[in-house]
Parts: sequence; structure tokens; C-alpha cells
Amino acid sequence: MSQSAPPHIVVVGSGLAGYGVLRELRKLAPEARLTLVTGDDGHFYSKPALSTALAKGKNADTLVTTPAEKMAAQLKLDLRAGRSAEAIDRTDRILLTTGGPIAYDSLILALGADCVQAPIEGDAAHRARPVNDLEQYRTFRESLPDGAHVLILGGGLVGTEFSNDLTASGYKATVVDMLGHPLAQLVPAPIGDAIRGALEKQGVTWHLGRKVVAIDTDGPGFKATLDDGTTIQSDALLSAVGLRPHTSLAAAAGLEIGRGIKVDLNGRTSDPHIFAIGDCAEYPHGTSAYVTPIMAAARAIAPSALGTATDIRFPPLSVQVKTTAYPVVLLPAPFGVEGAWEKVDDDERGMKYLFRDSESEIRGYVLTCDRCAERGDLDRSLSELTKQERV
Ligand SMILES: Cc1cc2nc3c(=O)[nH]c(=O)nc-3n(C[C@H](O)[C@H](O)[C@H](O)COP(=O)(O)OP(=O)(O)OC[C@H]3O[C@@H](n4cnc5c(N)ncnc54)[C@H](O)[C@@H]3O)c2cc1C
Repeated sequence: MSQSAPPHIVVVGSGLAGYGVLRELRKLAPEARLTLVTGDDGHFYSKPALSTALAKGKNADTLVTTPAEKMAAQLKLDLRAGRSAEAIDRTDRILLTTGGPIAYDSLILALGADCVQAPIEGDAAHRARPVNDLEQYRTFRESLPDGAHVLILGGGLVGTEFSNDLTASGYKATVVDMLGHPLAQLVPAPIGDAIRGALEKQGVTWHLGRKVVAIDTDGPGFKATLDDGTTIQSDALLSAVGLRPHTSLAAAAGLEIGRGIKVDLNGRTSDPHIFAIGDCAEYPHGTSAYVTPIMAAARAIAPSALGTATDIRFPPLSVQVKTTAYPVVLLPAPFGVEGAWEKVDDDERGMKYLFRDSESEIRGYVLTCDRCAERGDLDRSLSELTKQERV
């Protein structure tokens, strides 16, 4: 990096990760040249709000909290919206985009995740689309007649939250998931069953332990066929079968890839001039596709990219599941950690489960109903434990 000229930092991606790290960079370096390259229009919105928008009376336009031009002015950015990053020339430190080459001192990849496509037959299989950004949300809402019946593929966090939002807002929802209970990768079966029961009362129909094998056009709507031969008629479709870190750009540039783009504790990839953050990144402890880890990572990656190596500190960062029909907060165990659920409480105040790894360390938890109020204390005590381990 030149001693005299202010550093030029290029960020790719305008989601919570891209804008999160740009905010931190601007705080630390008022003079730095900051360029944002993004494949979308660069408007700022909170992605978690997508799955509560109906009940809150929001649409794709009103979900935008700050337009792109205002973000660019506030953060003094050279904004290159609607441009795709196509390749990285690591030798000369040049990002090749559909709008031309851009030289960088440091490059920060905030590329998000790719939606998994379920292998499904039928002439309308391609109409089961994901909702992982504002434009996909706009397309979904435009396909939704009043009171429509929506078939949701996948009962993880996203599918379950959308089923809650739809049925709380006068729509019908049917969820199909190959696992035995909702949120099966995040909560133990008794809690999944309680979520299922509460949402059933609100009007959600569940087909669990089943797969959609075909989707065909059926008049103005759709007919889905499950692996046990059951058929389901619906007016609209939503695919929520999972996300995978977006790694192709980094892989083509020869960066080290695992489940995501591998980074060290400073957020640095296997190239010292390139960093990765958010849903595309794989931190030393694994991937972490939630908002609070993004903010923690942004606070360390910004100084690291400016030349002061700073470790990311991940305190226990719990997540509120936005199922208003059945309140849940959880601390997701890091991806791939082996362990087992332990029941601590199950009474009129709700349930409390801890996830312990093979060394009996607490790596995750779930609280429901009134017990959600214990979240702060639990996070603080786990945070203390993490600090002691570090000493
Ligand atoms: C419906 C829903 C509800 C959620 N609820 C919660 C919640 O309650 N709590 C929580 O913690 N987390 C939640 N999450 C997860 C959380 O929202 C994500 O972890 C986070 O928003 C990811 O941000 P990101 O910036 O990494 O990725 P994204 O927001 O996906 O941004 C990626 C950016 O990269 C750009 N891009 C990609 N490739 C290129 C390229 N080649 N060239 C240029 N630009 C490119 C895209 O255009 C985009 O701007 C939810 C997710 C969803 C889908």
C-alpha cells in the first residue's frame, strides 16, 4: 500500500456484510478511497425483514431503508451498482467487472450465498423460486394473489418464518420438508414439534419427512407431487431449501475454499490483500450466516484491511426466530460441530435446551416462550466462559 496516497479499498456486495464493513472503514479512515461494486441496485435494506414484511404491511419498495445514492453520499463511496465482478487478477491487484477493471489495494468480498436448487421434475419446477434478496421478494409478492395458498419447499428458518408471516396475514401455507420437524438443523425435536403445533393452529399445513418430486402447471396454479404420491394444489411457490456460500469468483481466482471462502481470524483469505465477510465467508470456526456475526467481523476486517491486523471476536450471538405464533430464540451451534441436546427446563414458562459438544462444552441453546427472557443472562454467561477460555 502506498504511504502517501490514501488506500483504495474495493468491496464487492451491497448486503449487510458489504455495507457493514464500509461503515466501519469510513469511521476509521475518513480519507480512504472506497469503491462498492454490486450486482444489484445497491439500496440498503435489512434482509431479515423479508420474512416479516407481509404482517408489517411492507413491500419490496418500502423495505428499502436507505436508497443507494444516499448510502453512497453518506459513506463517500464510488458506487458501481448493477455491475458484476467477473474475475480477480491477483498479480496486478485488479478486479475485472462488467463495468471495466478496478485496481485495488485491498479487496473485500461480501458476495452472500447462492440458493440451493432442489432436483424436481415437472413443467413448473423452475417456478419454485427462492427469496434471498429484494428483487426475488418483489417477484414473489407479484406472484401472490390475495389470500393465495403458497407451497413452501423447506421448513428451515426461512421457510418456517415465511409460513408464519403468510398465515398471520390472511394467506394459506403448506410446508414440505424432508426432515422430521421444522428448524431441524437448529432445534431439538420437542421444540420443533411445538413450533409445528403452534403454526398448525395458525393455519400452516405440514408434510414432514417428505420430498417434493415434481411440480406441474395446474390451471392458473400448480400441482406438486410428493415422494409418497400425495399431491398438493397451490397458487404460488416459494423455495427455501437452503443456501450455500458464494465461492465461484474466489475459487476461480485460486483462493482457498472450504464450505465458504476460507478466512483467518483477521478475515483475510489465502491472499493477504483479499478479505471475505458474511454469508460467503468461512471463519476459522466455520460458516455463520447471521447478522450479528457480520457486524462482529466488520469491526475487525475494516482495521485489518487498512493495515492494522485485528482479530474478529465472536461472542455468543443469539438469533430471534421470527415465528410470532411461537416465540423462540437460539444460539446456533457452529456448522459441523458434533454434539447432543440436553433438556434443562420444560414447564409452563417454556422450554430450555442446551447443545453440548463431545467435550461437554455448551455450543448452542434454544429458549421458547417466556423463557426467551433468559437470553441476555445466558449470552453473558457464555461470553464470560469464552473470555476465560481465551486467557
Ligand atoms: C428471509 C430471511 C430471513 C433472515 N432472518 C434472519 C434473522 O432473523 N437473523 C439473522 O441473524 N439472520 C437472518 N437471516 C440471514 C441474514 O439476513 C444473512 O446472513 C445476511 O443478510 C447476509 O448478508 P450478506 O451481505 O453476506 O449477503 P447478501 O445480502 O446476500 O449480499 C450479497 C451481495 O453480493 C452481491 N454480489 C454477489 N455476487 C456478486 C458479483 N459477482 N458481483 C457483484 N456483486 C455480487 C449481491 O448483489 C449482493 O449485493 C435471514 C435470511 C433470510 C433470507
